Amino acid sequence: MSTVVEYVCPDCGTLLMHDNPITLESMKDVHSQLCAVKRQRSIAALSVKPTATQRPSVNYVQKAADPAMVPKSISQTATTLDANTTISLSGTGTNYSKAEGPIDADFKSKRQTVGTFKGIKVWGPIDPPGQLGIWGTQVTVDYDICIADGACIEACPVNVYEWLDTPGHPASEKKTFMAREKDCIFCMACENVCPPQAIKIFQKGA
Ligand code: SF4
Repeated sequence: MSTVVEYVCPDCGTLLMHDNPITLESMKDVHSQLCAVKRQRSIAALSVKPTATQRPSVNYVQKAADPAMVPKSISQTATTLDANTTISLSGTGTNYSKAEGPIDADFKSKRQTVGTFKGIKVWGPIDPPGQLGIWGTQVTVDYDICIADGACIEACPVNVYEWLDTPGHPASEKKTFMAREKDCIFCMACENVCPPQAIKIFQKGA
């Protein structure tokens, strides 16, 4: 019977777990390189000022949705689907949802799965194209918070994410899709770099 070994990052407190010590060492290495708190401490210690070549800051304030895209009367009832439904992104829904982060860490006890998209679970309520809910099981992204910054795609060492077009969504018209969710090594890099905190990583079984 395998034993799960834990590691707590001394900088940010992130908990890493794995039953394979070699894999856990890899996770620690990757996390150490990408730990946002560690990076901030290093920068502060060195008193390094941002340079023009560094990544531009992200504007957290979202523009209001194009009035032409906002329906005249907004329905209060999202589409009702069951967990076996294949989700379509090109609906005729009238709910337009754009939320502020962070993602609700307890969403799995508050929401229900309403279907799947290419094998990835989708948690409702949804009302495509303007309300898309939370996607994923281990690698989860609140699509109503995601602003398509792309930091997670750049940060992921195992290429879990790819772009997915979501035309008509008021927060952003593309999202980061966890297509290779099963490859996640739980390094937490994406969760730490997401500007609006739209991502929550769950260890296997959580
Ligand atoms: S998806 Fe998994 S492996 Fe990729 S950055 Fe996020 S936590 Fe790390």
